[in-house]
Amino acid sequence: MKKRDVIEAARPHYPEGQLLELEHAIDVTTEAHKGQKRRSGEPYIVHPLAVAKLLIDWEMDIDSVLAGILHDTVEDTDLTLERIETLFGQDVAFLVDGVTKVGQARAGMRDLESYLPQTKDNLSKLLIAIGRDVRVIIIKIADRLHNLQTLEHMPKEKQVKIARESLEVFAPMADRLGMGGPRMQIEELAFRYVDPKEFTRTQNLLKKRLGKSTRKLGKIRQEVEKRLAEEGVEFEINGRVKSVYSLWRKLQRVNGNIDDIYDLMALRIIVKNKHECYRTLGILHGMYQPMIHRIKDYIAVPKTNGYQSLHTTVITPNEQIVEFQVRSHAMHQYAEGGLAASFHYHEQKTADTYTKKKGHLEKLPSQLQWITQLQEIAGKLRRGEDVPREQLDIDLFGRRMFIYSPKGDIYNLPHGALPLDFAYLIHSDIGKYAASFKVNGKIHPFDKPLENGDMVEVITKKMPQAKRAWLDLVKTSHAKEKLRSQLKQMGLVETLTNAAAIMREKARRRKN
Ligand code: MN
Repeated sequence: MKKRDVIEAARPHYPEGQLLELEHAIDVTTEAHKGQKRRSGEPYIVHPLAVAKLLIDWEMDIDSVLAGILHDTVEDTDLTLERIETLFGQDVAFLVDGVTKVGQARAGMRDLESYLPQTKDNLSKLLIAIGRDVRVIIIKIADRLHNLQTLEHMPKEKQVKIARESLEVFAPMADRLGMGGPRMQIEELAFRYVDPKEFTRTQNLLKKRLGKSTRKLGKIRQEVEKRLAEEGVEFEINGRVKSVYSLWRKLQRVNGNIDDIYDLMALRIIVKNKHECYRTLGILHGMYQPMIHRIKDYIAVPKTNGYQSLHTTVITPNEQIVEFQVRSHAMHQYAEGGLAASFHYHEQKTADTYTKKKGHLEKLPSQLQWITQLQEIAGKLRRGEDVPREQLDIDLFGRRMFIYSPKGDIYNLPHGALPLDFAYLIHSDIGKYAASFKVNGKIHPFDKPLENGDMVEVITKKMPQAKRAWLDLVKTSHAKEKLRSQLKQMGLVETLTNAAAIMREKARRRKN
């Protein structure tokens, strides 16, 4: 990777003035890292250049790209944050600072099994960084992806550690941001270090299977191309092969039987718009027999990270099973690039779109509401309040689901959330007065978790219903916090500080 490669990649995307800034940033960074080497023996600058190149490919704004170039300077060179601010402005300095702090926060978290007081500051840095500007995490994902691409040069022990953390933290984070492309790259690279044996075994299994079906699939593809052209559909078509890691994960679910997996290879059809997606699906079903339980409409009901497409699996006259994925260009862009791509399509890309500065984050699409919720946690940590470690895991790294209100509004909740969590998310008073729940039209027990796609109606009473026992019930920190302050007001619970003081006193007495 050379300076020239980065500038050339950037040229179609940014105006002349920004390209000059980029060149300037590269020169300053090259000078700062002068004499430093990567483990591969290459000059250090190849790493920041590669990170910037990824950010350009993901069509991030210029500030992110500049911060990508500069991301290791504050930690590893004499360049100061003040100097960066003078040269490239406050926003770039803010991003570089964020990336530096997230690095430190993760270093602090890595060695901790449990939630210890001294980690709180590191952890809060991480959360505040994400909460204030999600671009910090996107830069961090690019940084991690390039480090994985060059992981072969690391000592073995470090390889496994970095790879495992990538699978546990960075891949889910990319997934949560809807960045399907980077997520898959991280998983493929990391998996081969975490479990090389399983990686090779699964890869061989996949190769063997693909060899058989590739030629047959080519015929189907021609048939489909011909028919779509006849019908006047403008389209692109390509074959997508399942990644080794996702095949391996799926094999665990079907007890290792590869015959039960129908989407080893799929034909992906990209069309102009939503209407054309449904029309194409109709054409496909007119040509081949669909497997009825395998038709998935992720356009009407998107996946929780915002992914949209139509999936269908058909049986051809010579009994071949083929999966099709049909999506529009905008949906495809989102499926690959996630957050960055969504802004690209919906509005002009400015720094404000990503940051909280002007309240823009409240307008994030519903699949990204977790970022807003994160800001609440970040605020608590900033004020020095306690947030239990398990709670962070649920809110930050857990799976998410979409829940609908009767009016059709969509809310995003962590997996395992109860109807009460939903009620508190709509409004704290709806939670307080909630007497019972209907889920998909049927009465639903208080303690039974919701499932993705549920429509929830909260039935309220005139008298407050909130009670102490709910505190052990609710799953989200948002609901816990609102409920606790209501209970305090109603005199139903001692204030936290009192309770803590009593606990301490008890502990002291036990010791003596
Ligand atoms: Mn780096």
